[in-house]
Amino acid sequence: MCRHLAYLGPPVPLGSLLFDPPYGLLRQSWAPRDMRGGGTINADGFGVGWYPGGGDPVRYRRAQPMWSDTTLPELAAVTSTGAVLAAVRSATVGMPLHETAAAPFAEGRWLFSHNGVVRGWPDSLVPLAEGLPVRDLLTLEVPTDSALLWALVRHRLRGGAALDEAVADTVAAVAAAAPGSRLNLLLTDGTTVVASVAGHALSVRRGPGSVLLASEPFDDHPDWQPVPDGRLVVATTAGLDIREPTTA
Ligand code: GLN
Repeated sequence: MCRHLAYLGPPVPLGSLLFDPPYGLLRQSWAPRDMRGGGTINADGFGVGWYPGGGDPVRYRRAQPMWSDTTLPELAAVTSTGAVLAAVRSATVGMPLHETAAAPFAEGRWLFSHNGVVRGWPDSLVPLAEGLPVRDLLTLEVPTDSALLWALVRHRLRGGAALDEAVADTVAAVAAAAPGSRLNLLLTDGTTVVASVAGHALSVRRGPGSVLLASEPFDDHPDWQPVPDGRLVVATTAGLDIREPTTA
């Protein structure tokens, strides 16, 4: 059921987040420790987004399993970053297997990921999609629930919503339109990370001037803290706020 992670802090090699930890994203692609709602492995693609030199993010995404990609280890060995969002994908049955369906989705400063599924897709989201500009629908990157969730979040961001508002508002609207959906969203602009916990696991870990959010802890360090279901996490390098979501 997909696994995602975000990091903010002093620059670290990508490999230290993806490959080096005993249960890093690489390991989670073939042996996740906490899969819920179906799915056993995360072999339907992966993506990594980071902010070179603090500039706008770049992404490296592929439709293949992370373990079969020979370029990523080389990239990860020479790339250090102070902000990253990465994911491995377990495609929901019936959804396309394509690189564009792998998170992170992106625009400008923003990187986005969804771990979960929208119940009743696509019919359940027709009423919400009708609220989007037609152009957004015509330029949807790929016909998946996650891509439409990104379009809904992005529409709010473009309209001036703060990251936490955009996530909380989208989760509330989709949960109402498609009850029983699993809506663990992850959004960053390279400075703040916002995560919703709705149907899947999420853990957080604070370090000196750094913060990690991950679907599951990538090692057995005691500082990992599971976040209860239904919460919204807002994290920066200065602090971590775990709250009940409120929507406008
Ligand atoms: N439903 C999304 C997809 O198919 C996310 C899947 C997941 O979280 N496993 O891409």
